[in-house]
Amino acid sequence: MSYKLFIPGPIEVSAKTYQAMTTPVVGHRSADFVALYQSVQPSLQKLFYTQDPVYLSTSSAWGVMEGSLRNLSRKKVLNCCSGAFSDKWHDVAKRCGKDAKALKYEWGTPLDPEDIRKELATGEYDVITFIHNETSTGTMNPIEEIMEVVREFPEVISVVDTVSSFSAVPIKKDELGVDVMLTGSQKALALPPGLSLISVSERALKRSEELPDRGYYFDFQEFQKNHAKGMTPSTPVIPLIYALRSKLEDIEAEGLENRYARHEKLNDMVHTWMDKHGLELLPPREFASKSLSCVKNLKEWDLPQLNKLLKEQHNCVIDGGYGKLKGQTFRISNMGDETEETMQELLNNLDKVIAQLG
Ligand SMILES: *Cc1c(COP(=O)(O)O)cnc(C)c1O
Repeated sequence: MSYKLFIPGPIEVSAKTYQAMTTPVVGHRSADFVALYQSVQPSLQKLFYTQDPVYLSTSSAWGVMEGSLRNLSRKKVLNCCSGAFSDKWHDVAKRCGKDAKALKYEWGTPLDPEDIRKELATGEYDVITFIHNETSTGTMNPIEEIMEVVREFPEVISVVDTVSSFSAVPIKKDELGVDVMLTGSQKALALPPGLSLISVSERALKRSEELPDRGYYFDFQEFQKNHAKGMTPSTPVIPLIYALRSKLEDIEAEGLENRYARHEKLNDMVHTWMDKHGLELLPPREFASKSLSCVKNLKEWDLPQLNKLLKEQHNCVIDGGYGKLKGQTFRISNMGDETEETMQELLNNLDKVIAQLG
């Protein structure tokens, strides 16, 4: 049984992408692999808006989220926490044995750059982590204002998760001064899960040299050493790299500006539908994510029933709320390859099943 995913990850994967994954694998130390690896670098650097290398990690995003902490912090980590993923990042820091503080916000509240300034001004920290687009709450944090503050503290290395916003909105890594920017395959990029991308600045790479316990699998030094040869440290998920190459061609063909405009338009469509039903977003409008909408379930719709009907009658699903927001919010993704037609169809289908909820 296959049905279409309008949940914020994993999302619908195109037939073209699946087709690309059937390309026969090659040896990961062969010239063919080097050509494949090197062929994706220029487009990735363009999408990351960076001159730094973009490493390919065979892991979901959590691998490189954990790895970054192990590579970068000898003193103390400031984890900005305002949702399920950012809260968990703090937990992961502690599990790695790092000294870490959670700068905590209510879920759905954007990060406040002034709070970050106050914390960093203590001089205790050498790493800050934050999530650009907190997927659990549909909140897009003010990355420009945050990075303006972070740049005032040159000893602090910034690690920014862009898992659900990468390529949906421009995130200009070098211009913003982001040291480490990471994303995963199965959200905004509309690939199957299993690959993550991480771009590391020279000073972050330098910092990692000094860390004794950075392990092997996510060691930045290993990534860099192999990157210089057009390779990955261990055998990578080659089918997903074919898929990535195919997706980068799609993005190139659409054009970045068109891609951003399409996401904005589709996101607006969901907001208009929400207004029509007298509903509200969880975060303040000006901090709403552009790749998904996290909507308060003010009408107390039976979300499991709604999704059951949506799946049975229209062959698709949305998300019934993440973690402690389950039942209280629902989330609709407009990431990836969606079009005005496919979003409109979803919204029409939602209207049809809502009418049946009684
Ligand atoms: C999904 C998600 C993650 C975790 O990704 P995995 O692929 O499950 O490791 C991390 N951060 C954000 C913002 C996410 O949306």
